[in-house]
This record gives sequence, C-alpha cells and structure tokens, in this order.
Amino acid sequence: FEGEKSTYTKDGSSGALYRNPDKCIMCRRCETMCNEVQTCGIYSAVDRGFETVVAPAFNLPMIDTQCTFCGQCVSVCPTAALTEVSYVAKVWEALHDPDKFVIAQTAPAIRVALGEEFGLEPGTIVTGKMVAALRRLGFRKVFDTDFAADVTIVEEAKEFIERLKGKGRLPILTSCCPSWVKFIEHQFPELLDIPSTCKSPHMMFGAIAKTYFAEKFNIPPEKIVVVSVMPCIAKKYEIQRKEFEENGIKNVDYVITTREFAKMIREAGIDFTKLPNEDFDDPLGESTGASVIFGVTGGVIEAALRTAYEWITGETLEKVEFHGVRGLEDGLKEATVKIKDMELKIGVAHGLGNARRLLEDIRDGKRFYHAIEIMACPGGCIDGGGQPYHHGNLDI
Ligand code: SF4
Repeated sequence: FEGEKSTYTKDGSSGALYRNPDKCIMCRRCETMCNEVQTCGIYSAVDRGFETVVAPAFNLPMIDTQCTFCGQCVSVCPTAALTEVSYVAKVWEALHDPDKFVIAQTAPAIRVALGEEFGLEPGTIVTGKMVAALRRLGFRKVFDTDFAADVTIVEEAKEFIERLKGKGRLPILTSCCPSWVKFIEHQFPELLDIPSTCKSPHMMFGAIAKTYFAEKFNIPPEKIVVVSVMPCIAKKYEIQRKEFEENGIKNVDYVITTREFAKMIREAGIDFTKLPNEDFDDPLGESTGASVIFGVTGGVIEAALRTAYEWITGETLEKVEFHGVRGLEDGLKEATVKIKDMELKIGVAHGLGNARRLLEDIRDGKRFYHAIEIMACPGGCIDGGGQPYHHGNLDI
C-alpha cells in the first residue's frame, strides 16, 4: 500500500491527514468520533476486496470528502492507521539551509501540553523551556502567536461594532478555527456571510512576519520560512489554501503539531526538563493576557467582547459570566452582556456536533445571538488533534 493518493499535494497525501488502511484493526473509534461526536460522517466500513477497513465512502482521498481535518480521529486511533502528515523532515531541511531565515511561532495551547510529553505534570506551563528548545533546534527567532491573537481581537472587535451599527449580518462568528471554517463551508453555505473576515491568528502572524518583520530586519520575504507550532492538524490544511499567499509567497510555510515538536526535541537529543527558561524574541513576542485565553473554549469571543465593551463604554468589562444551555450543557454556553442600552447575547460552542445543532437553530430562527465562538475540537484547541496522545488514560 502506498498511502493515500490525492491530487491535492505533490507528495500524495491530503496535506493534513494520512491514512494507512493496512494498520486499521476495525475498532471503529474514528468512526464514532467523526460520525457521532463531530457529525461530519466521513468514515464507514469499506470493502477493499480482500478485507474491510474504516475509510471514507468509496475509499475517496480525504481531501475529496467533507473532512474538516480536525484530527480528532487521529487522537483516538490506537494503531496510527490515521496520523497527521508530518513536516518534520522539511523543517529540518529548512533549518539546515544557510540561505533561509527560519522563525517559529507557538500557539498558547502548546505551552501547557508539551511538558506532558517529557513526563511533567499535565498542565505544567513550560513556556520558557519551549522557547529555549526552539532556539537550540536552530530557529533564528522565536515568536508568540499570542501577538497575532491580540491583532485578531482588535480586528474582530472592530468588525463586531460595525455589524452592531448595521453594516453586516449578525451574529458574527469567530473564524480562528480552520476546521470550523471548512465545516460551515460544506454544511451551511447559506450562512457564509456571518463568520468574521479575520484570518486565524497564526496566518495573521505569517503575513506580518513576511511584510513588517521582513522590512524592519531587511530580510527578503522569500528567504523567511515561518513554522507554526500548533495543537492543531487542520492548520496543516489551512496554510495550503490559495487565499493565504501574496505574490506566490505563502503566509506560513509549515505547521508542526505538539507531538511533532516533541519528536524534534528528542531527535536533537535535547534534555527538555533541564533546559533554562528563556523569553520570546522582540518585536513579535509581546502579548496581553487576553490572547492567552484563545486556547480554551470561550476565550476568543470573551477577548473580543471585552475590547468592544471598552471601546464603546470607555470602561473595563471584568468578567463574562457564561452559563450552560439546557439540553446542550456540555457543548454550548451563553452569556448576556449589557453595553449601554444594548443587551448582547453571546454563544460559545465546541465540538462540531454542537456547532451543527447551534447553526441549525440559528438558520431556522429558533435562537438568536449577536456573537458566537465555535471551536471544532471538543474542549477547544487545548484538546486539539495534534496534542500529546492520552491513549485512553483518563487518570492523567
Ligand atoms: Fe485546530 Fe483549535 Fe480548531 Fe481544533 S479547535 S481544529 S485545534 S483551531
């Protein structure tokens, strides 16, 4: 078996997910995750002639299906029949190319998960060691995606206020999650005017790196290689979308997951736990506390709302009190925030199954919100498809 064939990328994969049916043991965990939790319905039992495997209908390449590349199937596959497409070799190649200036950006969810891979208590924040590890791997600059998350908050708050003034349709939907964006494109094409027009933070970062940073440091943009270290598999697909390049130069060149980053640290023989704590580089390493909460469900909309509140009232909104919605307590939260004489209703959903139910209600006029955050992965990016495997061990 040669792996999945596709016309999407030259290397014969979907660019994000790789299937190897020879490793499939028909446990059907991917099918449960995809069809029942996420409700994308990609997987079914497919007869390969000599055996049956779990695969997309007609054994189609993933890119030719409605797969959103959330990677939750990868998280539950016990045999690596499903894995992310790895860009580790390409990143090593770039790091060893003297003609390239390779920079890293890291998502907020990495710093709380990476330590687990090296035996630290789950939830240990390892920001300083993470930065030190990237420098020792050869990255010339180590930046924080949180810088761009702050830019996203400003842009999204601005667009929200414009729509409140009647310029555009409500609710506004956050657009940080590429898996969620692909989901609405396939499943709710009639609602495509409601997501915000903002790029996701790591794509904004890539664009800034190859324009502002390139100019400030006098580096030709074509020499800059941007590597995003992410908890996410869908972002591997996102960077290949045609709208994310300028003059033939991609905003972001490679995405590696938390797991792949840990693999590189091991390959380099670095003792992660003994690394000193180091700081992000300037000028794209600074951020506010608002951007850090992007990694957890509800964080993006809360940050945008707080900014909009401050711009409209001149006062600070201390906290947004969310509560569960009856019947959907686990997957949908709501909050009502009063701004001057407006009562704004905010919704937060995580997991694509919950998102589908929420959007059906909005489409059918059964619910109304002014702003909604949706994250494809159940639990948000902190439980992204590229985070360390748990192998069903619920004690950790
Ligand atoms: Fe990626 Fe986060 Fe969306 Fe999951 S929820 S697909 S990790 S952006």
